[in-house]
Amino acid sequence: MYQEILARNSSKVYDVDTRYQELVHELRDYGYRLTPQRLAVVQALIEDEEHPSAEIVYERISRRLPTTSLATVYNTLDALKAIGQVLEIRPGQGPIRYDVRRPSRHPHLICQRCGHVEDARVPEGSLRELGVEANGWQNLQARVDFQGICPACAGEHGDG
Ligand SMILES: [Zn+2]
Repeated sequence: MYQEILARNSSKVYDVDTRYQELVHELRDYGYRLTPQRLAVVQALIEDEEHPSAEIVYERISRRLPTTSLATVYNTLDALKAIGQVLEIRPGQGPIRYDVRRPSRHPHLICQRCGHVEDARVPEGSLRELGVEANGWQNLQARVDFQGICPACAGEHGDG
């Protein structure tokens, strides 16, 4: 039953252009109207490797395309959620963060001091080694996030 999890976990990171085209096609196939603002939101989400919040995406786009509203960012995220193309990360404190580059479940490292989020590299097979026993369960999916202090924050205090 872990096979499925591992397969998803190891899904490749797409390059920005390929991923953008893919999402545009998906959204169009599902009948979403693609305004220039929505397209800009999709692009900004993919370009940002830092697992941005909606507000960060909005700030970034509104400089380039002032007609974009925060509501458009949320609408676009809702559309991506509806078609299963965005992963939400809830850091525990602060706003929800989004991963549009890799929408499949994968573990993250989350800094408790500055809120930095990055993908955790987990070797193939290590989820199986957790040894979870769940007889009779089906479609089990693991959601694992690690919380700690990132190197940048640790370095500030001279104890990195
Ligand atoms: Zn991620």
